Parts: sequence; structure tokens; C-alpha cells
Amino acid sequence: MPEGRVFPVWRGIGVGAGVWSQGWGRCLQWDPDGPEQGPRIPVFDYPVWVVLCQGGRARLREVCQRGRGAIRLPTDMLSIKLPQLFDIHQVPKVFREDSIISGYRHPRSSALDCVLSSFQLNNETVNIWTHFLPTWYFLWRFCALCSTMNFLTDSYTWPLLVYMLLICVYPFTSCCAHTFSTMSPESRHICYFFDYGALSLYSLGCAISYGYYVMPDCLLNSWLHQHFVPIAIGNTLFCTGLSCYSRFLELQFPQRSKALRTGAFVLPFIFDTVPLFYRILLCCGGSGCSPSDALSSHCYHLLFAFLTCFLFTAHLPERLAPGRFDYIGHSHQLFHVSAVVGTHFQMEGVMADMTSRRAWLLAHGGTPSFLGTIGMLVASLVLNLGIIGIFSTPLLWNSPHGAGQPRTPKCKEQ
Ligand SMILES: [Zn+2]
Repeated sequence: MPEGRVFPVWRGIGVGAGVWSQGWGRCLQWDPDGPEQGPRIPVFDYPVWVVLCQGGRARLREVCQRGRGAIRLPTDMLSIKLPQLFDIHQVPKVFREDSIISGYRHPRSSALDCVLSSFQLNNETVNIWTHFLPTWYFLWRFCALCSTMNFLTDSYTWPLLVYMLLICVYPFTSCCAHTFSTMSPESRHICYFFDYGALSLYSLGCAISYGYYVMPDCLLNSWLHQHFVPIAIGNTLFCTGLSCYSRFLELQFPQRSKALRTGAFVLPFIFDTVPLFYRILLCCGGSGCSPSDALSSHCYHLLFAFLTCFLFTAHLPERLAPGRFDYIGHSHQLFHVSAVVGTHFQMEGVMADMTSRRAWLLAHGGTPSFLGTIGMLVASLVLNLGIIGIFSTPLLWNSPHGAGQPRTPKCKEQ
């Protein structure tokens, strides 16, 4: 406390009976009346009426203002103005979600507002976090593998390297897409183009790892085995192209758009899973299979994959009670969780197969090549980015108001 500042003490009536409270004591200050009084230590025992009669009323008001300011300061420093939320009829059609009534962010949010909105409960918050946190989980698993495996020189680990990279990329891309999708209608489409591209690349990661580690013994070196990864690259191009195109039909033909997008992701999934289905069928038939940790993990993965597909298409539970699950519990959040849990079991299955079948696969299937793994990933990445670029360019060139709804009348709802 600087010199010359004291806490006035209530000693007027009943000396010693009462004092200014500690809270007020921190805020009040007692200034000397003039410079001649200098650093004189003021007398503490001023009665209150003296304070009031010698212009103290104004001074008291002033210190009260300072006190309020001092109290409010930390609150102002901590309070950040969070973006306003809107109901479904207040946002353009392109932003509306089936059976989600409230909790929409502003359709022209700034990038900062988008980032801040991830800390504010709205209808995208859980979508963002259900893919942001798993990104760190998969990164942690990847780092742990880096310390135990030699990804640089051991070519047998390269399919796993590609797979691990892609299971880190797809939830992170999805998290970014959900975060920044409300900057404009154009940005919404482009964000989800990248989301679809990352998902189709993930399907390539599955194909590469399944082709090298999960392929059943009887299909090793077959035509399917030899062409498995190139076909999977074709699937990623088909998947990215069709899913991006489906966004252009969303407003005019929502059912067709949904069917095309679902088909775009189901096809690579079915193709990638052919070796796994075959192995499970062989097991069920009782030939050439012994139950293993890998197979049980793969079965759990398939279970969650079907659940993921069901949640994506059914829009349950929000369809049963529109508005009830706007913030927590709607199908897209459950879809994210189911997809991540499925990916976890898939990762466990792939790693178990990779470890347990190493000697046999190296002896009969040959070693994975750089071009067949990382080269394929790079080629597919470039081609998919090209497709995303083709779909994004017209949106970037169009006017801001019409760009979000290509081939459809301009949306009047604001
Ligand atoms: Zn999503």
C-alpha cells in the first residue's frame, strides 16, 4: 500500500464497535487534503460525518467507483464474449441439419468465432471434441509405436505407418471441418470436401494394411491381392468425387444426396473388408482358422462399422424427438464416437495380425515396397486434392451469396 493511503476506520458511534469491512478496506483510499499536508499519516479516527462534511461525499463516491472498478477488473479480464446462437429458421438452408432445431452458429462467423465456439455449447461442439480428442489418442499410439518399431528402415512396418498416419489425419480433418464450417456457405462445402477426402484416404490406409497383414492365407498372391491397393486408389477417387458431388444436390434432392454420399463411403468399406469377411467366413466354416485376438478385434471393428453406418443414415435419436438432442446426443455425435471406437479395434486387429503373422507373410507374401505403400499414399493424396480442387474452384469464384447453393436458387432465409 503506498504511503498516504489508509483505510478509514469507523469509530464514530461506539468506538471500537465497528470497522470498514476488509473488502471496502482494499478499495478505499484516503488522500491528504493538500500538498502541504505531505506524507502526514492521517488520523484514523475520523468520524464519518467529518468525511461527509469536508467534501467527503464526493470523495466517498469516487472511491466507491474505484472500488467497483477494482472488483470488476478480473471479471472483465476473464469474460470473453461468446458468439450468439440461432434457431433453425434463422440460418440459411445450407446450414440446417435434419431434426436439429437450435444451437446454430452464425452462418458468417469469423475464424476466431469458430475457434471460440468450440468452447461454447452449440450443436457442433460435441462433434468437434469427439474427433479432436481421438486425434490425440491416435497420435499417442503412433508415437508409442515409433519408439518400438523401426519405421525408417523396416519395410514390413510401412503399411502400418501409412495406416497410423491416416487414422490421425481423418479425425483431425473432421474436427477442423466441423469447427470452421460456419464461416460461409462456400467454406462449409470446402471444409466437408476435405473431410470426405480424408475419409476416403483413410479407406486407402485400411486397404494397404489389410492387403499386407490381414489377407487370408489362401488369397495371398492371388489376382485380388496383387491389384488390391491400385483398386483401392480408384475407390478413393470414386468416393471423394461422389461424396463431394453429393453436396451439390443437398438442397434440391436431399434423399438422393444422402444415398449417393452413403454409397460413396460404403463401397470402399466393402471392398477393403473383403479379405476380412473371407477370413471370418473361413473361420465360421471351420477351415484354416484358429480364433485369435486379431480376429476378435476385427469382429468388434465390424460391429462398430455397421453401427456407424446405421447412425449416419438413420438420424436417430433426434428424428424421434426433434430439438431434444440438439446439443448432446444427436446421431452425428454418436456416429463420430462409434467410428472412433471402431477404428481403435481395427488398429488393434491390424497390429495383432502384423505381429503374429510376420514370419509367415514375409516368407510367402514378400516384403512391402516403398512405392506400394508410401508411394501409393502420396499418389492418392495428390489425386484426391486435385478432385477437391476441381469441386472447390467454382465455389471460390462464385459470388459470396450464391456460392453456397450451386445449381439452386439463392437462399432467402437469413
Ligand atoms: Zn462429422
